[in-house]
Amino acid sequence: MSDNKGDGDKGRTIGTRGGGTETSRVRQSFSHGRSKSVVVEKKRKRVVVPKPGTAATSGANAAQVRSAQGGANAAVSDSEIDRRRRALMAAKASEADRIAKEKEAEERRKAELASLREQKESKEREAAEAEARAVAEAEAKAMQEAEEAKRKSDEEARARNKPRGKKEENVVSPADAPAPPNEVEGPRRTAPGSAPKRDDRREDRNAKKSPGGDKRRSGKLTINQAMGEGGRQKSMAAMRRRQERQARKGGGSNEPREKVVRDVKLPEAITVAELANRMAERVASVVKSLMQNGIMATQNQSIDADTAELIIEEFGHRVVRVSDADVEDVITTVVDDPADMKPRAPVITIMGHVDHGKTSLLDAIRKTNVVSGEAGGITQHIGAYQIRTDDGTLLSFLDTPGHAAFTSMRARGAQVTDIVILVVAADDSVMPQTIEAIAHAKAAKVPMIVAINKIDRPGADPMKVRTQLLQHEVVVEAMSGDVLDVEVSAVTGEGLDKLLENITLQAELLELRANPDRAADGAVIEAKLDVGRGPVATVLVQNGTLRRGDIFVVGEQWGRVRALINDQGERVEEAGPSVPVEVLGLNGTPEAGDVLNVVPDEARAREIAEYRQQLAKDKRAAAGAATTLDQLLAKAKADEDVSELPIVVKADVQGSAEAIVQAMEKIGNDEVRVRVLHSGVGAVTESDVTLAEAAGAPIIGFNVRANAPAREAANQKGLEIRYYSIIYDLVDDVKAAASGLLSAEVRESFIGYASIKEVFKVSNVGKVAGCVVTEGVARRSAGVRLLRDNVVIHQGKLKTLKRFKDEVKEVQSGQECGMAFENYEDIREGDVIEIFETEEIERTL
Ligand code: GDP
Repeated sequence: MSDNKGDGDKGRTIGTRGGGTETSRVRQSFSHGRSKSVVVEKKRKRVVVPKPGTAATSGANAAQVRSAQGGANAAVSDSEIDRRRRALMAAKASEADRIAKEKEAEERRKAELASLREQKESKEREAAEAEARAVAEAEAKAMQEAEEAKRKSDEEARARNKPRGKKEENVVSPADAPAPPNEVEGPRRTAPGSAPKRDDRREDRNAKKSPGGDKRRSGKLTINQAMGEGGRQKSMAAMRRRQERQARKGGGSNEPREKVVRDVKLPEAITVAELANRMAERVASVVKSLMQNGIMATQNQSIDADTAELIIEEFGHRVVRVSDADVEDVITTVVDDPADMKPRAPVITIMGHVDHGKTSLLDAIRKTNVVSGEAGGITQHIGAYQIRTDDGTLLSFLDTPGHAAFTSMRARGAQVTDIVILVVAADDSVMPQTIEAIAHAKAAKVPMIVAINKIDRPGADPMKVRTQLLQHEVVVEAMSGDVLDVEVSAVTGEGLDKLLENITLQAELLELRANPDRAADGAVIEAKLDVGRGPVATVLVQNGTLRRGDIFVVGEQWGRVRALINDQGERVEEAGPSVPVEVLGLNGTPEAGDVLNVVPDEARAREIAEYRQQLAKDKRAAAGAATTLDQLLAKAKADEDVSELPIVVKADVQGSAEAIVQAMEKIGNDEVRVRVLHSGVGAVTESDVTLAEAAGAPIIGFNVRANAPAREAANQKGLEIRYYSIIYDLVDDVKAAASGLLSAEVRESFIGYASIKEVFKVSNVGKVAGCVVTEGVARRSAGVRLLRDNVVIHQGKLKTLKRFKDEVKEVQSGQECGMAFENYEDIREGDVIEIFETEEIERTL
């Protein structure tokens, strides 16, 4: 064994030991000469730490150890080996121990962290829960209070009610024990506006708190829970029943509703009493039902069809709407047999720009062709007249030139005109109103004949007129179109025959026919309230023959023909197709454009008229239009804050008034609009001034003037009355005013008025008016207007102003004078001459 011990071995052993102990041999000498070799072992600090728990490494280590052991066996004793093993084991154990400790520490740290986090979280949770609890508690408290109040009132109600209800309610009533917040779950859930989010949170909390919470709840609300949902449903049903009972007591009974269902004929408007009658219900029930719908109506009041339909449905009946035509069925719509149709005269309207000679042309035609041939004699002005041409053809002219009248009549359903004569002055050519007239004629699909007027004038240029018309798609014959054109002069009479010829030609082309042997219908050309004769309407018969004694409806009016007066002022017995006549015997004044129909009897006439009046009234009410001055004032005041320009319009004819209102309503933008407070026909009156003053509105007079009291009132109040004779100008001015673009303009002011006492005929001069100046002064240089019944019939210049025999510059108020107009002769006794001057002033409209 000892030979195995060698240095090589030694070194190798040490090397393979890999740390732990270091051994070396020393020779010990003893006494008596003995010596002994001893192995000295030095413990060495271990350097390499084998990786803990890796099997492969530990396996390798074990092998190394074993081989080392095997290698060292020879030199190391068993005990030593044992000891070493123990040391190794101890080292190993301590290593494992350390790892375990480390692990443990790690674990502890983790645990600590987790618990910390948990603590934090739980704190947050607690805060949130506390908050939620506070909210819930507040809510529950409120609910509880509400519940309490309800319970009390219920109890009171029950005390008054039958015992059955009491029993029901008592079961569910938790009245005796005021429940803590959590327990008022039921009512809280139904509480309006309780946020679902909060509910969730509350439920969470409740889940956490359970089972205690649940137990507590079930403990307190045992009876309620025992009744469960059913209890609540029952009470709701009771409530519903109660509601139904109340409803039944309140508005009309349910039972008869189901008993008889009627078909109720419903016209456009019906009185409450009539509605009740048609439904076979009590009037009181209907009134009550209306009230419940927010409509206060007495039994004699009319309600509209839509409201009535609602009521009828409410009573469970069936609605059968009848149209207005039902009432008007009596108006015969006879389809004429072509064999009965006979030719009729064409109806002609003259249109064109102002001052292009419409009136002159009409006068010229009339003077040379009056039916009765009394040339120069003053004929009745009724708004229309007939002439007979040289070849015997009858032509009917409408004497109300103006686009407004034309269009408004058309709007009212009266297509009166067959042919339009478009007057264009050769020296002025196409002007705005010419274009307007073309548009009107085209819209009405009425053929046009172009009369190029004033060809006697030096600056006349007929070709210019023709070419300019081309731009507006009016192609005259001379430009190889199909529109007839004639060059005329109203002054010299040149071309008038040709014009009439062309009219006849055009009329023949139109093949105008009508059946004279039937009940008449016609259109109102003009209407007025005559002081002596009552309401008078000029009617152009369009079909059939109108006779004295006929009963008729016209617009909203009705009547019996008391007298018929023709354009010559003669009483006639009848008027056939295309014949204009004045009709007397109306019960009210109709409006231009209204259609006249002869009906079988007075009752029908009255019925239709009343029906139409009601309809119009409803229409006005619907449009919010006020009818009385008081209402107008109230309305004007109520609307004061709105940025709008109120105006009052008075015009010579209904058509103009309507056209102005329409034009005015079109003006305006988002910020400002024009509001027509009132519009009407006739002179500006004191009532107009009052109305205008209240609303701070200017008054617009279109071809009319203010009467004396109105003028005075307006002067006193500093109110403006503006006069116009051209819609175009009026619209422009109002437009400018509405957009705040008013600038200084040349405007006229009245300097005087004179009234005509007598009319003389003076050779070389023509007709001269013997006048007295009633107001202000008359000035030779000033402009003049001729007014007849406050309506402007002529505007122009004075030819002469004479005081006695002398031509003077000025005549003062109260003095007499003689006046003659330039180019105008139709002056009459009683006419008023308005004298005005133009000046530049600031616009104030
Ligand atoms: P209205 O506004 O279209 O009706 O035009 P008027 O008939 O009032 O005529 C306006 C002016 O033109 C008047 O002074 C007429 O005397 C004048 N006038 C009309 N027709 C003619 C014409 O053919 N020749 C001339 N020279 N003047 C005319």
